[in-house]
Amino acid sequence: MALLQIAEPQQALPKKPQRRAVGIDLGTTNSLVATVRNGIPVVLADEQGRPLLPSIVRYGESVEVGYDAQAAQSHDPHNTIVSVKRLMGRGLADLSDARRFPYRFIEAPGLVQIQTRTGIRTPVEVSSEILKALRLRAETSLGGELAGAVVTVPAYFDDAQRQATKDAARLAGLKVLRLLNEPTAAAIAYGLDNGSEGVYAVYDLGGGTFDLSILRLSRGVFEVLATAGDTALGGDDFDHRVYCWILEVSSIGPLSAGDTRLLMMKAREAKENLTLHASAPIVATLSSGETLSLTLTVDTFASITQTLVGKTLGPVRKALRDARLDPSQIKGVVMVGGATRMPQIQKAVAEFFGQPPLNNLNPDQVVALGAAIQANVLAGNRAEGEDWLLLDVIPLSLGLETMGGLTEKIILRNATIPIARRQEFTTFRDGQTAMAIHVVQGERERVADCRSLARFELRGIPPMTAGAARIQVTFQVDADGLLCVSAREQTKGVETSIEVKPSYGLSDTEIARMLQESYAHAADDMNARALAEAQVDAERIATATAGALQTDGGLLLAPERDAIEHALAEVRRLISGEDRRALQAAVDALNRVTEPFAARRMDRGVARALTGRRVDALN
Ligand code: ADP
Ligand code: MG
Repeated sequence: MALLQIAEPQQALPKKPQRRAVGIDLGTTNSLVATVRNGIPVVLADEQGRPLLPSIVRYGESVEVGYDAQAAQSHDPHNTIVSVKRLMGRGLADLSDARRFPYRFIEAPGLVQIQTRTGIRTPVEVSSEILKALRLRAETSLGGELAGAVVTVPAYFDDAQRQATKDAARLAGLKVLRLLNEPTAAAIAYGLDNGSEGVYAVYDLGGGTFDLSILRLSRGVFEVLATAGDTALGGDDFDHRVYCWILEVSSIGPLSAGDTRLLMMKAREAKENLTLHASAPIVATLSSGETLSLTLTVDTFASITQTLVGKTLGPVRKALRDARLDPSQIKGVVMVGGATRMPQIQKAVAEFFGQPPLNNLNPDQVVALGAAIQANVLAGNRAEGEDWLLLDVIPLSLGLETMGGLTEKIILRNATIPIARRQEFTTFRDGQTAMAIHVVQGERERVADCRSLARFELRGIPPMTAGAARIQVTFQVDADGLLCVSAREQTKGVETSIEVKPSYGLSDTEIARMLQESYAHAADDMNARALAEAQVDAERIATATAGALQTDGGLLLAPERDAIEHALAEVRRLISGEDRRALQAAVDALNRVTEPFAARRMDRGVARALTGRRVDALN
């Protein structure tokens, strides 16, 4: 469970010179840049005073970003890229809705590529144009180069999507101080402004994604209790419903790509209009010269989008279930994302939680404001004595060495600190009374390819059969990034622990190299892991067989014993080699020849256990 510490509202202004740091909400639909000015987070507007930058890039004579690109989208759909965030870190095969995009995708394995007028573009490049525009806006407005930026991503972004976002920022000339989950950013903005205590839900419905997070706030500390969401649900889907409704109620002929764009734009306008009005006109002239004139009422809009509204409640229920809470235990619901302005969303959320949701910050801006606050802290603009905000992540996974020189990851890379994770391990041999604990850091499967952090031993484990002892190992990383590993034997309660500093001595370049290697070697590592696992398995069977021959050898006839010894020798011969298949075959053969032996030993065991006991005492 990640604990996020948040400062109390701070009035005192820092005296030292400020380093220019910004928070960027790189949205599917709209992007924003914000900064902290005189201790107050503010969104930076463009020269015309507009805070939002539509996340749209057009590859025309020159590259246009934002409103200019938006204006061109209906007449130049192939070269005007919208909702690029949905494509980040994705291959064409990942996109179930590829046909909804009017672009010329390149049919190729790997990440998505789009054919534009000026050549092939990747989603990373398209996003970097948006980020570049925001960087220039911020530099103009703040009067100089930026020290760094915090860029937000949906909580459900996976590693590839996060990496793509980071690459885009780097390509745009930004120093990424950190990627931050959007709901967390919103919570930071609200936490500082309200200083409230209790359990809160963050309901974020943007243009393309839905995120629901449950957070507990107490004395300036946020605890993330649960998150859930849908990466393919947002305001765009409401536009699409309206668009489908237009096609249904009007009898217009085949549409050009430009017509589709135009109608989608009209659909969105109507949707936004209905937030304040009872009905909205939809008027459009199609490329065929045909004109279209319709009126959409609030009631019709509500009925055609009812299922979408309902769809958002699924993740809400799931997150509450995960957090073991019911709606009445939620003290407030923070609304994030432009689409939460829709009255039917407000109503559904209010009904579900039995209270009106919180709207005191602008839902479009709240994520960027929170990111700005975080950026300000990370850039070192903290006043003397100010409580600090902590939101650090673990750069490389932390884990333990298990049998066969393999690593078992306990805390995954990018986990927010402080964090604690617990896992149970067991003994390998009968009667084992000590366990060597080797703490490692890295992404690779083999210990030899990871960085060794510390070794210690847990002694005094009561002797038991292999696999029976339960050793609970706890990894705890505190707010300063200090790792404490403890191991506890569950039956006798013996315990030992050690403190390690996980990132000590690892530079950014080293971290980058280790990550790169882990990607490059993923296939090798899997083979190595399979071989190591087979070796561990073989070792266990060989040891057990040798032990059984020693204690119960008398149960065997000479040829049987010879066959077993032969099979055992074969396993031992192959155990240190590299041929996993041959080893596997030898183990299978050994298992086969020892089967009757095992059955006889078991019968004898039962007979021994029964000796001297009365039959009626057995049930
Ligand atoms: P994202 O985080 O995906 O960039 P935003 O938070 O900017 O998205 O929200 C964009 C969505 O909000 C769009 O679908 C837009 O149509 C919708 N939206 C903005 N204003 C309104 C409004 N007044 N009523 C309804 N929807 C709105
Ligand atoms: Mg958003």
